[in-house]
Amino acid sequence: MTRITLPRPDDWHLHLRDGAMLTGVLPETTRHFARAIVMPNLVPPVVTGAEAAAYRDRILTALPAGAAFEPLMTLYLTETTDPADVAAAAASGLVKAVKLYPAGATTNSHSGVRDFDKVRGVLEKMAEIGLPLCVHGEVVDPAIDIFDREAVFIETVLDPIRRATPGLRVVMEHITTKDGVDYARSQDDTLAATITTHHLILNRNHILVGGIKPHYYCLPVAKREHHRLALRAAATSGETRFFLGTDSAPHVDPLKECACGCAGCFTATNTMQLLAHVFEEEGRLANLSAFASENGPRFYRLPVNTATLTLEKTTTAAHWPAKIETGAGPVTVFDPGFPVFWHAID
Ligand SMILES: [Zn+2]
Repeated sequence: MTRITLPRPDDWHLHLRDGAMLTGVLPETTRHFARAIVMPNLVPPVVTGAEAAAYRDRILTALPAGAAFEPLMTLYLTETTDPADVAAAAASGLVKAVKLYPAGATTNSHSGVRDFDKVRGVLEKMAEIGLPLCVHGEVVDPAIDIFDREAVFIETVLDPIRRATPGLRVVMEHITTKDGVDYARSQDDTLAATITTHHLILNRNHILVGGIKPHYYCLPVAKREHHRLALRAAATSGETRFFLGTDSAPHVDPLKECACGCAGCFTATNTMQLLAHVFEEEGRLANLSAFASENGPRFYRLPVNTATLTLEKTTTAAHWPAKIETGAGPVTVFDPGFPVFWHAID
């Protein structure tokens, strides 16, 4: 197979930022994707329905001319989030999920949750109305090794939350371990998991061997090879619980290439080409549609897109810019480290 047409894909975990960065990176997503779950970790975070409405307006204003793209908004869960505000924002159709960041887990997460008892009322309301909770699944305890933080989170935070809140619909975001894959598979259909493009390509050697690669540093950090292989098997399996969330996360180069670089890989530009490459390598190209176009809408109870995207393999390597120039500064595009012969054509 050298040509495949999918329902237009959606990105179920995306960072668009704000201001000049938003304007600069948005076309990279709208070129291939119809919708995206937009992360709320701005400074300050998007906490209320009113703030989500204002952010949505800024995204729509920044859309390139002619782009058919729908931002799916999320709220940033804090210990003071009002269950009634969440319910109203969901009922209006504005908000499609609430995002849980353990305080301090990643970029702009200091307003996140420390005491899970304080968000019990919100979680119970969400279970009642069927609104998904998107979870950044890492503990932040300094005593826990960074490579173990996902597995420990599942056992000590995620599973207890789900047991305490029956019916709560949860997306384990950007899972990076076999532990995450196994837990997702062991649960009922109230649980789903997203997988990024870069975690299908990188293991921790790619970050650290032969010199440190700041553009491969992200959170959760890439793990050992056997975890990467488990993620590839899950993503390409066609199982409905697994779908694409790129976690494409732009930072300007000076904030990546420095003594204390930010976490994030910017993959919006070339995700679909890279996924076609990965799925072909796994002999599972026929399941790319399930992963990128069908399983996400099913979980979020939205229609599959009617527009399409065609990917074609040629003998010419695909080209994308090494950097996107934004008004906020240059953003380096994820480099997989190997040539890709899949091209996205409309
Ligand atoms: Zn993210």
